[in-house]
Amino acid sequence: MIRREDFEAELLEVFRGLIRIDTSNPPGNEVAAARYVKGILEREGIPARVFESTPGRGSVVARLKGDGSRAPLLLLSHLDVVPVEVERWSVDPFSAVLKDGYVWGRGTLDIKNMGAMEILALILAKRKGLKLKRDIILAATADEEAGGTYGIRWLIDNHFEEIKAEYAINEGGLGIVESGRKAIFCQCAEKGICWIKMTIKGEGGHGSLPSPGNPVILAGQVISRIAEHTFPVAKIPITEKLLTGAEKLGLLPEGTKAADIFGSGKGYRSNGSRIGKRINAWLRHTATPTLVSGGTKVNVIPMEVQVSVDCRILPGTEPEEMLEVVKGLVGLPDVEYEILQRKPGSESSMDTELWGVLEDCLKEVEPKAAFLPYLSTGGTDSGFLREKGVVCYGFDPTLVSWEDWDTVHGIDEKISVGNMVNGTMMLFKVVQKFCT
Ligand SMILES: [Zn+2]
Repeated sequence: MIRREDFEAELLEVFRGLIRIDTSNPPGNEVAAARYVKGILEREGIPARVFESTPGRGSVVARLKGDGSRAPLLLLSHLDVVPVEVERWSVDPFSAVLKDGYVWGRGTLDIKNMGAMEILALILAKRKGLKLKRDIILAATADEEAGGTYGIRWLIDNHFEEIKAEYAINEGGLGIVESGRKAIFCQCAEKGICWIKMTIKGEGGHGSLPSPGNPVILAGQVISRIAEHTFPVAKIPITEKLLTGAEKLGLLPEGTKAADIFGSGKGYRSNGSRIGKRINAWLRHTATPTLVSGGTKVNVIPMEVQVSVDCRILPGTEPEEMLEVVKGLVGLPDVEYEILQRKPGSESSMDTELWGVLEDCLKEVEPKAAFLPYLSTGGTDSGFLREKGVVCYGFDPTLVSWEDWDTVHGIDEKISVGNMVNGTMMLFKVVQKFCT
């Protein structure tokens, strides 16, 4: 057992110190945060190393040794944050001000909070002298917010032995408290990425001589065809459990029933609401036009126009298959296609020892909270680790309202002190149950 007073002050000090290091990516400069974490752990007698993939881009890896009879558990988070629009914030986003029971600042929900909780869980495991069967590895990476090239991908390519584990606990999950109802959505899958750039060619000329071959008009048609296409609903076990559970909790919109979505063949159409958009994205592949460029002058019809589409694909479909679908939708002969970024979706089984431990720990701490699987519509570092055979779960042990979740990547991001304390206790419990 650990008591709140044993670690609360220290947790807040570590956490607020981390928030105060500006790791906005770009440029990142995570090495300062990596050194800070290394210093904290080494004072505790836990060996840690900073790996710099390129100057300024640092990740930190530490290890608390077990007896080696079981394979390691990796506690993962990332050090970088997304940039801020400072003038829209009501506080300095890098001051980590403590106000109304909350710590405010960029990274307080994504995801320096988890970094700090994992650091404290590791320190407490050491101080309590837990008899570990598994090594506990802690890694806090650079560059997650920009795709992981200088963080997790570099670590996997250059120092995989340092982070190799049977299981990983990472960000990507979602703990919700809404009208007294509580649930932790534990991420066990994430959608893949296929970013496609299209160059649509046509007939250029003088703006005073309209032509149906005008590539600006063709681009408009292409965008409409993609936007109007509805991908079929895919019935996969994760989304079925996710939606059935969310319905029981009353988190689905009025009148929406999971059985109807999967059963009647009606499918589901997003009503544009916060939850509606998510349900839509959980159920199917999506293709979203996001960038348009072309033309130089108002009286000149250009020869070509570029349109880029952000496609997100369910696990099991390759990015190249998505490209073929998009080509079919476009249906024009003179278009060049380029895949700007590709990453297949990934999935970890829900039938594992760690899944059971996470569920049990939640039940002990929050008996009324539901434990449900989650499919991320965006990507995290877990996608790359799953490719290497690591079972990864996005288990964020905090319970946050929708309103507060909306501050992630937005303005006035903040987390309550109570959530930081409870989350740390929960992670310690998980480590104790799973690694001893
Ligand atoms: Zn994140």
